[in-house]
Amino acid sequence: MLSEKLRENGVVGAGGAGFPTYVKANSKVEFVLANGAECEPLVHKDVELMKNFPAEIVSGMDLMMQATGAQRGKFGIKSKNTEAIAAIEPHLKSRPIDMVFLGDFYPSGDEYELVYTATGRLIPPAGIPLQVGCVVNNVETLYNVHAASKGVPVTEKFVSISGAVRQPQSFWVPIGTSFRDLIELAGGATAPEFAMFVSGLMMGSLSLNLEDVVTKTTAGLIVLPRDHFLVSRKGRPEREMSRIGKSACDQCSYCTEFCPRYLLGYEVMPHKVMRSLGFTLTGSQNWNQWAQLCCSCGLCTLYACPEDLFPREACDKAKADQRAAGIKFTQQKPPTVHPMKEARRVPLSMLRRRLKVEEYETATPFRNTGFTPGRVRIRLQQHAGKPARPVVARGDRVEKGSLIGRMEASDLGANIHASIAGVVEAVTDEFVEIRG
Ligand code: SF4
Ligand code: SF4
Repeated sequence: MLSEKLRENGVVGAGGAGFPTYVKANSKVEFVLANGAECEPLVHKDVELMKNFPAEIVSGMDLMMQATGAQRGKFGIKSKNTEAIAAIEPHLKSRPIDMVFLGDFYPSGDEYELVYTATGRLIPPAGIPLQVGCVVNNVETLYNVHAASKGVPVTEKFVSISGAVRQPQSFWVPIGTSFRDLIELAGGATAPEFAMFVSGLMMGSLSLNLEDVVTKTTAGLIVLPRDHFLVSRKGRPEREMSRIGKSACDQCSYCTEFCPRYLLGYEVMPHKVMRSLGFTLTGSQNWNQWAQLCCSCGLCTLYACPEDLFPREACDKAKADQRAAGIKFTQQKPPTVHPMKEARRVPLSMLRRRLKVEEYETATPFRNTGFTPGRVRIRLQQHAGKPARPVVARGDRVEKGSLIGRMEASDLGANIHASIAGVVEAVTDEFVEIRG
């Protein structure tokens, strides 16, 4: 059965939170959607994957359709990516899969957006695609589904390295490869001091640590000079963000008017979350139901707010506070798409300008490096659910693909495999380190 192979071989969503794919393969739906939208500025790895591995991706989609009983497939791809379309299209002939052409907007790869664009259905507030008869998989996940069906576990990650590096490019690397190695593979940084955005400028995280490692969900690195304004913005302490928001928010509500979830009809209103800051002394208890359906896309903070405030971070804090307090907000009305939705979409070109990263926009062509690092540190939690339990000990010899972390059958999670052949040097609750 496909779901067993996916579980055994550790397949998880490669484009987001790392949700185990076997769960999706076990469901029954009408549509399987391939997500090739890739809308994070300066990240181009899915485009390269679709250009270079179309047969594997479409095969993965076939397998997911068979497993879920889906009668139709929808392949979401941006119409600007003509080479990727030309590579994928021949494989769709004679299959019940339609291309869904997307504009060059942020966000277009968000599941709620993609399901609506592809099927006209709105996922219930706080719901999942399954509730409207859909399963959505990132294109790299589909590649991994194909590989797992042949018994090949997930040991490599496809990443793109862009920004302030000499040779922006995409390549496969073993999971657990350090960021230091990635930057060297891309010819080194062009700035003497730099920071790395992991998996995206909008929804990714900031890292200053070259020893951080690639996981099953790392989309790549965007290297920026350390004095770039995005680096200092991302690095602001939470207290400072709250304090500035309390004093400077003029309630113009642009953050809400541009919010993609609000425009789809969900009850998200970041300006009201910002308003609640004004009613607290420090912003430390920022409970506000208007944040709960926010997907943390970052558009309010990094694009919409004319005062460079932090509504997304206020929403994140409100969500965390309410989660900790056990408060759950339920939208009463069914979502209705805002009449101005299409007119308020944000083109990537405008977003890049606002983020001051236009100079770094360039293709990241695929290069077959065959790179094997001398050492990898493989995390035991690279997925939604529980961490895997290590099944190797210091001194053990492993081959590439050997099982090193196992999930119990009753738990949600994913098995973890060695990404290089070598000797286990360290085992902790968090990672397994292998010397090649
Ligand atoms: S856009 Fe900025 S200033 Fe306007 S309401 Fe939102 S946070 Fe306040
Ligand atoms: S981050 Fe801001 S724009 Fe994005 S969903 Fe949340 S509130 Fe809306």
